[in-house]
Order: sequence, then C-alpha cells, then structure tokens
Amino acid sequence: MTQTPSQAEVPCAVDLTVSEQPMDSIPKEELFTTVIAPCSDAEPQEPAAEEPSETPSGFAGFGFSEALLKTLEEKGYKDPSPIQKAAFPELMLGRDLVGQAQTGTGKTAAFALPLLERLEGRSTQPRVLVLAPTRELAMQVADSFKAYAAGHPHLHVLAIYGGSDFRSQIHALKRGVDVVVGTPGRVMDHMRQGTLDTTGLRSLVLDEADEMLRMGFIDDVEWILDQLPEERQVVLFSATMPNEIRRLSKRYLREPAEITIKTKDREAKRIRQRSITLQNSHKLEALNRVLEAVTGEGVIIFARTKAITLTVAESLEAAGHDVAVLNGDVPQNQRERTVDRLRKGTVNILVATDVAARGLDVDRIGLVINYDMPFDSEAYVHRIGRTGRAGRTGEAILFVTPRERRFVGNLERAVNQTIEPMDIPSNAEINQSRLDRLRDRLSQAGLGEADDETPLLQELIQRVSQEHELTADQLALAALKLVVGDQPLLVTGDESWLKAPFRNDRRDDRRSDRGRDRRRPEREARPPEENMTRYRVEVGHRDRVKPGNLVGAIANESGLQGRMIGRIQIFESHSLVDLPKGMPEDVFSSLQRLKVLNRELQISRAS
Ligand code: AMP
Repeated sequence: MTQTPSQAEVPCAVDLTVSEQPMDSIPKEELFTTVIAPCSDAEPQEPAAEEPSETPSGFAGFGFSEALLKTLEEKGYKDPSPIQKAAFPELMLGRDLVGQAQTGTGKTAAFALPLLERLEGRSTQPRVLVLAPTRELAMQVADSFKAYAAGHPHLHVLAIYGGSDFRSQIHALKRGVDVVVGTPGRVMDHMRQGTLDTTGLRSLVLDEADEMLRMGFIDDVEWILDQLPEERQVVLFSATMPNEIRRLSKRYLREPAEITIKTKDREAKRIRQRSITLQNSHKLEALNRVLEAVTGEGVIIFARTKAITLTVAESLEAAGHDVAVLNGDVPQNQRERTVDRLRKGTVNILVATDVAARGLDVDRIGLVINYDMPFDSEAYVHRIGRTGRAGRTGEAILFVTPRERRFVGNLERAVNQTIEPMDIPSNAEINQSRLDRLRDRLSQAGLGEADDETPLLQELIQRVSQEHELTADQLALAALKLVVGDQPLLVTGDESWLKAPFRNDRRDDRRSDRGRDRRRPEREARPPEENMTRYRVEVGHRDRVKPGNLVGAIANESGLQGRMIGRIQIFESHSLVDLPKGMPEDVFSSLQRLKVLNRELQISRAS
C-alpha cells in the first residue's frame, strides 16, 4: 500500500514563517500552498539532482496510495499545508516527531494520513492510539481518520471518551479496532481493565499536548506512555511548548523531527482583537449592544463559570437571540448536537466555559466574546483561536473590568498584537448596524429569484393597491414595516452610563489605579451617581450571588431595563445596588419580597 520516500528527500527540522500578507485577501486553498525547503540533520541540502526544481504539486510524491489520493481529491484538498509537507515524509519513515502548531493548520491530516498509510494488512489489535484533551477533539480527530480512511473500508476507527457508554466502547474494542482516539482518562481506564490492548500499538499521537497539561492530564499521559511497547513511534503536537511538554518529549520521544509552524502571529493578526473596559454590572447590557453592532457569522461567548453561562444565555434569550450553552453540566449527546447546530448555523450564539469549548472546530465562528477575562494568556490564545479558522478573518472582543485592565498587557505579549480599546456600542452605532442589516435583507430579497408563490404575492399587491389607491412606494413602505414588526427599529434608550464612570482610556486606568485605595470600606463609600439611589439587599457572596442574578431579577420584577441598573457591589452577606431615583412604592414593596437564589432581597435604602 505504501511507497516510502528516500531519506535524502526528508526534511528534519523545519521552521516555517508564513507571509504577512493580510489573510483575508488569501483564499483558503492558497493558505495551504506555502512552499517549504527541505533540510537535513546537517547543513541544509540542495534538492537531489533528479528532483524537479519546483515543489511537487499536490499530494503526489509522498508515497501515498492511489486510494488515499482519490479520497483527498474528493475532499477538495489540492495541496498539503506547510505542516503537512513537513510532517508527511518524517512520519512515512516512522520517525518520532514534535510539531508546534495550532488547530487550523491542517495538523490532524499531517499525522492521520501517514499513520493510516502505514497500516498494512489487517490486525485484531489497535495499532494507532491518539490522545486528545477533550471529547470534542477526540470525536473530531476520529471523524477525520474515518474520512481519510474512506478508501480502506476494512480499517476501523473508534473514539473513546468519558461521559459516553463504557460497555458499547468495550464491544467495539472487542470487535477489532485499528485506530483508537481517546481522552487520557478513559483510555487509561480501558487499559487498566484490559479492554484496550496496547501490545500491538505502533504509533501514539499526543494531540494538543499543552491542553492536556493545562487540564491536569499529564500524569495519565505519562502512565499511558510508560505502558507502551518498546518499539513504537510517538508524535507530539502542541500549540505552545511549556517546559513540562519539552520534558515529556525528551523523555519519551527518540530523536524526533521537529517542526515549528509560526502561525501564532499570523493567526492572531487575522483576528481583530479589541477590549471594552466596563463594570461587571454592565456586562450583560454591553454584550447585547456588542451583538447588535458587531455582526459575526457565528458567535462564541466565553464565561468563567457554569453559572455565568446560564445567566448570560438567559439574558440573551430574553432579548430574542437563539442561544446554546456548552458547559460541564451539559450531557455528552447534547454537546454533540449543540456543536452540530452551531456548525450548521441553526444556532448562532454559543455561551461556553473554557473547558467545554476546548478544541471546538467550527469554521463559521466570526466573533469570540471574552465575557469574562480568561485565567491566563494561553487560555486567551485558545479562546480567540476559535475564530479566524480555515483562512477566514475573525473578531475577538474582551470584556475587562478596571481592576483586570493591568493584565491586558500580558495577553498582548502572548499574541504579539495590540488589543485595541473599544467603546460599548452607542445607540447611533446600533441603529446604523440595524439599518445596514435591513438594507442588505431588502436588497437580497429584491434581487432574489421568483418562485411558485411570487404570482400570488403579485396579485395580492395589485388588489390592495387598487382597493386603497396606493402607490408602489406606499406599498413597498408598508411591506417593509411589516418586516420590521412592532418593535421600534431604532434604539433610543438612555446611554449616559456608556461613558461613565469607566472610560476606555488606559492612562485614566493607570491614574485611577495609583490613586485607588483598595480597602473595601473606601470603595463602599463612593457615593452613587447623581440620578441614582443606593439600596441594600440581603444576598451576598455567601449565597453565591452574581451581579447578573441581581440585574436579571430586579429588571424582571421592576420593569426597569437592565442598563438602568447601576453599580452593584457584593459583600459577604449583603449587596448594594444603585437604582434610578424615584422608585414607585409598589415596585419597592415587590422588590422587598423578591427572592434571588432562594433568599428574599428585603431591599432597603442604604444608609
Ligand atoms: P486542523 O488543523 O487539523 O484542525 O484542520 C483545519 C481544517 O483544514 C480542517 O477543516 C481540515 O479539513 C482542513 N484541511 C486540512 N488539510 C487541508 C488541505 N491540505 N487542504 C485543504 N483543507 C485542509
């Protein structure tokens, strides 16, 4: 099934720097055509005399079978991506390999194609094991293997991960599997109880090794590596190379080929990154405004905790958005359905925690919103990497509270790019965006082709115009008004809070940082804004209340719009909430009895 390329053609350590041409101007196919020069252990070599002087086009020349070449053609892959060009020859020779590359570079095919091609004959034992940090990634990688193995129907691929039925996995393993893709914990469980036989393994892949480290799987990974047969090939891919991963690579890989794809800058630059400085209590309203003004094809909103994902999703649903949630509480089968809906566009907004969204690979994500600051810069890199995929451009917007502002510099260093300050979209911006969208819809409808129902509609128009003697303009206007519906087209609400008290000016932040007394009593003492009254409510940190809970509950009960609710300060057993002056008596008494997280607010005027 395979022809092996000669050693002389083989690149060993390739450092690829890809052109800085704006990525939005490069079609996807061209992203995968960057040329690399082969090199060897010693000095860089000239290509062998009999080799053609240009890079061989397409996937021919790597020793792949006809069946695989046909599969790739059917998938529309024209040329190997840089990482594939560098990895194929190494892996076809059976060498160990360390690759530093992110998702979106074609790294899955870089290891899957050669490993599949080297599977000769049939076997009853698994021969390739891929470890991936998350269920989603394990499933994606398994799906890729299945797709690439389409020309070899006798090859069986199985994904095994926690949260799905153990027994059906055991049955599938018993029936015979060639490639196992799994999460470390579940793979270890199967190995321990003897249902996954690793004695026939020829290759092990550690995919997104840094993610496995971050998620605390590294001991499991080492345990698995320690059980492997002496003679085996190990391939390690990681977006970043923390010391732990280098150590792992030194210990378990033998003279590995090294490939670095310097996509970080490029990936990052393809993603426009901005930040909004705001109070925690304004996040929900700011989010709604951003979603109105910045249109993204698909949107992922990252929140720090499961509870926040729910608060955010509820608030967006209340504003009329279709939203899905992905957090650790969502059962596996539902997660798969959710990712699928996002991929197909039947849902456009996903609210997720970091862990739940790891490795998520959906091309149509145009906007990532960091509703909460990520825990560290690596998490930020991974989050924003969910957009700008497969050669597309993307946008990332980070919500930062004034206290978190000082960490933005770390993120900028990690992505080697400025994160531009941005203001919460104003009414004018939102209105412009609404008008633009309406104009686009109208133009598209106007240019659309007639269908079976068109004559019916034409007849209806004619009848109404004759009955009421309406001009074409009047009719068109009426039709447009029908589309707009009962809700006002333009937003007109209060927007004075947008600018105050926190502006997107870092010098201001630094000044206020220097002058700020961090002691609580001082913060508590800052008076409410002029048009606000400060109230005390009897829920606090001990009840695990979050500003979103208070905003949601108070807005619901009082009929106030979320953005009218001012500063919220949460203390151990109570919180302070600034509400507009002049609250009617009946609203006040209904708020007294209102329960948040099962505790009555017992609202009172703060002294
Ligand atoms: P990955 O980095 O493995 O997550 O792959 C990113 C995307 O690129 C996936 O949707 C792959 O199907 C696609 N892809 C991988 N290799 C190629 C190629 N040589 N040509 C076109 N698309 C590719």
